[in-house]
Amino acid sequence: MTRIASVLLPLPLPEAFDYAEPEGMNLVLGDAVAVPLGPRIVRGIVADLRDGAGVNRPLKLVAERLEDPAIPAGALAFVLWAARYSVAAPGQALAIALRGARAPRPRPEKSLALTGIQPARVTPARARVLEAAASGGSPSEVARRAGVSAGVVKSLVDEGVLTVEVRPLDLSFDPPDTGLAGAALNPSQQAAADALRTMLANDGFQVALLDGVTGSGKTEVYLEAVAAVLSADPNAQVLIMLPEIALTQAVIARVTARFGALPGEWHSDVAPAQRRRVWEAVAGGRCRIVVGARSALFLPFGDLKLIVVDEEHDSSYKQEEGFIYQARDLAVARAKIEGAAVVLASATPSLESLRNAETGRYKWLRLTARHGVARLPEMRLIDLRETPPEAGRWLSPPLVAAMAETYGRGEQSLLFLNRRGYAPLVLCKACGERLTAPDTDSWLVEHRYTGRLVCHLTGFSMPKPEVCPLCGATGSLTSVGPGVERVEEEARGLFPDARIAVFSSDTAYDPREGRRLIEAMEVGDIDILVATQAAAKGHNFPNLTLVGVVDADLGLRGGDLRAAERTFQLLAQAAGRAGRMDRPGHALLQTWAPDHAVMQALAAQDRDTFVAAELAERELAGLPPFGRLAAVILSGPDAEALEAFAREMAQAAPNASDVEVYGPADAPLSLVRGRRRKRFLVRADRSVDISAYMAAWRARVRPRGAIRLVIDIDPYSFL
Ligand code: ADP
Repeated sequence: MTRIASVLLPLPLPEAFDYAEPEGMNLVLGDAVAVPLGPRIVRGIVADLRDGAGVNRPLKLVAERLEDPAIPAGALAFVLWAARYSVAAPGQALAIALRGARAPRPRPEKSLALTGIQPARVTPARARVLEAAASGGSPSEVARRAGVSAGVVKSLVDEGVLTVEVRPLDLSFDPPDTGLAGAALNPSQQAAADALRTMLANDGFQVALLDGVTGSGKTEVYLEAVAAVLSADPNAQVLIMLPEIALTQAVIARVTARFGALPGEWHSDVAPAQRRRVWEAVAGGRCRIVVGARSALFLPFGDLKLIVVDEEHDSSYKQEEGFIYQARDLAVARAKIEGAAVVLASATPSLESLRNAETGRYKWLRLTARHGVARLPEMRLIDLRETPPEAGRWLSPPLVAAMAETYGRGEQSLLFLNRRGYAPLVLCKACGERLTAPDTDSWLVEHRYTGRLVCHLTGFSMPKPEVCPLCGATGSLTSVGPGVERVEEEARGLFPDARIAVFSSDTAYDPREGRRLIEAMEVGDIDILVATQAAAKGHNFPNLTLVGVVDADLGLRGGDLRAAERTFQLLAQAAGRAGRMDRPGHALLQTWAPDHAVMQALAAQDRDTFVAAELAERELAGLPPFGRLAAVILSGPDAEALEAFAREMAQAAPNASDVEVYGPADAPLSLVRGRRRKRFLVRADRSVDISAYMAAWRARVRPRGAIRLVIDIDPYSFL
C-alpha cells in the first residue's frame, strides 16, 4: 500500500506538503528527498509518514531520495518547535538546519608529481615548472609558483613528465581523547566541576548556571563537564556555543589542547565546503564536539548530550533578522527535546537565568574569585560634574592621569566606548539640521578614516559635504559627540609616542583582522586600545591593567526594558578585562550620573543588590522574566495604508485574559529606507502561551500590498 510522506521544504510556507511514496523507496523520517513543487524540483525533509489508505486525491510522487544523511528525529522536532515558538514558517527554521547540507562538498585535492620521464624539450618555463613541481601542489599552484601559464603545466602532464594525483580529502574528525588531564582545578573550581559531574550522572534534561566572575575559570570548569559527558558515552556529542565569531578561536584552542583533537567549527565565516564537512560529520556522529555561533543549535546532532552556552547573557544570542530567535532560550528547548544537559556560563548572567537559578529550576554554581593570584579589578567612578574634560575633549583629568601612570609602567590601557566612527552626529550650526540618511530617520555617523558619513542602520554612506545640504551654508557642519576614532585622536594628542589602535567593526572588518588586533594586544604590541564592545568581551589580555569607560551612561539613555541590565553587564565585562595575571587592574567609569543604581552597583561590585532591585521592578510591572512580551513590527512605503492596516490589526487582536496589547505606535525608528514603521507591544502573564496568542492574531489579518508584518517573541530591540 502506498504511504504518504509529508515533506517539509526549506521555504517560508505555512506547512509541509503531502507526496506519495514510490514503490520500494522505503523512506524513513528525516530523509532528504527531492519533490516537485510547481515546475521545479526542490529538496525537502520527510517530516511525517502515514498510511495512504482511504486517500483518494491524486498526489505527486516523491521524485528521489537524496544521498544526504537523514535529519535525526530530535533535530527535526526541534526545528518544528522553534518555528512554532517564534511564530514563523517551519521551513524558515528548516532552512537554517539545512545550511550545511546545501553547501558544496569539499573537492578532492589534486597534487602534481614527477614521473621520472624526461621531457623531450626543456624551455626555461618548463624548467621552472619541474623545479616547482618537485615540492608538490595543485597544477594551478605550481603554475603560479613557476610564473607560467596553465598550458605549460598541462603540456608536461600530457607528455607524461608530470602526473596529477587525486587525493581524497580527509573528512574525518579525530576523536577527542578524554584521557588527557585538564588543568589542576582550584578548590572552588573543583567543587563546581564535581557538582556538574554529579548533575550529569543523572541522565536527562537539566540546566546549570555557571555564575563566575571574569577570570574565575569557568571555561576550565565546563571543559570538565564536556570531558565527563564524552567519556561516559562513546557516542555522546557536545555543543559549545559562543555569542561572537571573534571568541571562537580562543575556545577552539582550549578545546583542542584539552582533548587533543580539533572540534568542528560552525559559524557564518566558515567556508562552505568546511561547513558541509562539519554538517555531515555531525549527522554521522563522527564529529563529537562542535564550537559554534547561534546557528550551530540547528545542526543534525543525533546524540547531543550537553550544550554549553558561554557568555549566556550576551544579546548577540538574539538573532534579529529573518528567522528571529534567542539562541540561549532555544538551547534550553533543544536540550529538553534531546534529554540533554545545559550549562549556561557568565560573569553577569541574564536576569532570566538568575531568576531560574533563584527558584531552583536551574542548578546555581558560583565562582566568586579569580583563579590564582589574579584579583578582580578595582572599580571607581569619575564624577564628570566635578572633573569634566576640557571643552571639546572626552577624557577627564583623572582618567588621563591613570593612563599616563599605566603607560609609564609599560602596561596596557583599554578605553571603552560603544560608538563606532568619529562622531555620532553631524549638525549644521547655521540651520540646526541634523544630517540623516535619505528616507531613514537615524543620524549619519561621521567616519574620519574614510572621510564619509555613514548610516549604521542601512549602510548608506556619502562623502562629508563641504556645504550644508539643507541651507547651503559653508563650513557650518560640526561633529557632535565622540566615537572611538575621536577618542583615539585625543589619546594620540596626549600620548604621541604610545602605540594606539582602534578596535571596532570598522577596523576589525573581518574575523582575520579582528584576530590580528586581538593578538597584537595579547603580545603587547599595543599600548592603548580604543574599543567598542567588539573587544570588551571574553578576551584575556595579560598586560592590560587599566580600563577606562569613556561614557558609562551611554547604554542607559535608550531606556528600554533591558537598558540597566545591559549597561551593567557590558561595563562589568569591559572592566573585567583588566588585571588578568599577577598585576592588579582597575577600571575607571566616567559618568554624569554617579548616583544611578547601575553606577553604584558597579562601584561597590555589588551585583546581587542590583539584580534584586531590578528583578523587583520587573516583577511589579509583570515584565520578563515574570511576564512575557512579544512585538509586532509593521512596515510599508505608504504611510496611510500602513496606518489603516495597523488600525485593522488592532481591531483584530484576540481577546484573552492576562494579555494586554499596546499600540499601534510609531516605532522609534519610524522611517527606514523609505518604509514607515509601526509597532505593537504585547504583554502577557507567564502562564500565557504568547506564541499561540500571536499566531492566532496573525491568522486573522492579511497584510496587503507592500506591507510587511514581523513578529518578535521576547523582543530585545524596541526600535
Ligand atoms: P573565565 O571563563 O571565567 O573568564 P577562564 O577559564 O578563561 O575564566 O580562566 C581565566 C584564565 O585563568 C585563563 O587564562 C585560564 O587558563 C586561567 N586558569 C583558570 N583556572 C585555571 C586553573 N585551574 N589552572 C591554571 N590556569 C587556570
